[in-house]
Amino acid sequence: MAMEKTCPVCGARLTNKLIFEYFFYGTSHEIKCPVCGHCLRPVKEPIPFMLCYFIGLISMVLPMLYFLFIRGYDFVYSLLLTLPLIIIEIITACILTFVRIRFQEVRC
Ligand SMILES: [Zn+2]
Repeated sequence: MAMEKTCPVCGARLTNKLIFEYFFYGTSHEIKCPVCGHCLRPVKEPIPFMLCYFIGLISMVLPMLYFLFIRGYDFVYSLLLTLPLIIIEIITACILTFVRIRFQEVRC
């Protein structure tokens, strides 16, 4: 699996720390190549945000409805049972983003 991300200008390896910056600041954030100083931005959203949102919603709402109405648990307990699913979903989305992210040069 090609986990290594490189600068499209000079080919330098981009550190994980730089890639994680993108997680905190979003797609509009630019990172600077530590070697050549060019500004880099992800090519596009590695995974579509709306898709994540939709899957997240479905994976939360369906189990909630199941626990609430079919099993008859109360709201807080149903939410607690649903929580691990949501956490797994978020972790999966992060890993997918990290694996699929590619950078392009942009004007600073
Ligand atoms: Zn570079």
